[in-house]
Amino acid sequence: MDAPTPIDLLSLAREMIRRPSVTPRDAGALDVLEAALKRMGFACHRLPFGSGESGRDARVDNLYARLGNGKPHFCFAGHTDVVPPGDKATWSLDPFAGEVKDGQLWGRGAADMKGAIAAFVAAADAFLRAKGKGFAGSISLLITGDEEGDAVNGTVKVLRWMEERGEVPDMCVVGEPTNPERLGDMIKIGRRGSMNGYLTVHGVQGHTAYPHLADNAAHRLVRMLDAIAREALDDGSSHFQPSTLQITTIDIGNPANNVIPATAKATFNIRFNDKHTSKAITEWLRAKFDRAMGEIGSGGRYDLEIRVSGESFFTQPGPLSALVSDCVKAETNRAPELSTTGGTSDARFIRRLCPVVEFGGVGQTMHKIDERMAVSDLEGLARIYRRILDRVFA
Ligand SMILES: [Zn+2]
Repeated sequence: MDAPTPIDLLSLAREMIRRPSVTPRDAGALDVLEAALKRMGFACHRLPFGSGESGRDARVDNLYARLGNGKPHFCFAGHTDVVPPGDKATWSLDPFAGEVKDGQLWGRGAADMKGAIAAFVAAADAFLRAKGKGFAGSISLLITGDEEGDAVNGTVKVLRWMEERGEVPDMCVVGEPTNPERLGDMIKIGRRGSMNGYLTVHGVQGHTAYPHLADNAAHRLVRMLDAIAREALDDGSSHFQPSTLQITTIDIGNPANNVIPATAKATFNIRFNDKHTSKAITEWLRAKFDRAMGEIGSGGRYDLEIRVSGESFFTQPGPLSALVSDCVKAETNRAPELSTTGGTSDARFIRRLCPVVEFGGVGQTMHKIDERMAVSDLEGLARIYRRILDRVFA
């Protein structure tokens, strides 16, 4: 039997982009990936979780694929879901056509992160061809369809499934677009935590001409928000930027200009470093709110709901970050910065099981109109991933 034809990096990336897998939909993106991995000899497991049509328990499809049973076990993690394209008419090219133009691969997911997945698959294919039957370790891919959404039915549940089967990797690289400008800029070795607060303040409705008979919830809310927003949470730590708090919306929705509102709501997002836990921040918030409430007089009450997207985490620079750094440098001639900047990623879940670092493409166009990735970067990324596999299994 003839060996199957080699994986073509660009074709694989384009086929995935042509499946409009806006979270929580898969739209066939994982089928494309699974077919390529099966051809390479991977054992593939589709792991759908959740039952809803939309919302937090929306049904999401995931893929875990592994080749080999030996050690070391190297895992590549990523996601095939993408954020919505917005108004398609504002794109220079169709966001789901996967076109190549001016040396760039265009489309939603090109940078974040179908391109990186294709680069890794092509790298693994080239690596396995070169190794032949002498390969004794194992390579796996943990690909979720729920990274850009609530991340409830994605990586967390796949990891639990893997643990139950005793499939714990020895190390993991997440292919998120980590480079701010050029391939080789940055490896991520940690991320800040993220939490959202949903604050509802209750007062007493009344006539604006008779405020002594009412209790203005808007006045309370403004005081409370000022109490948490006026001072910085910290001034950063040795590996992290300062923590930040941003009020994202204030909602009163009072259509009458002569009515004192009984209820006022606000939402805020906190990105926090390793000086805090979400629990400590929640206590800090309550103390601030209680004091602000006291200052404005008795009466009134509030509800605070906290949703934690992830605690901050940090992987001490060690063998894995050194190995990945070396491979990036060998390919790009640049020493990447080891950073903890940016949003959250699924590395926050994986780090519980094994050392994890993140390295992928250039993030400049991610989540934007005209998302794209230079074909030369895709190829460079595949060569870096290939170097990583060569080193891990040397
Ligand atoms: Zn991403």
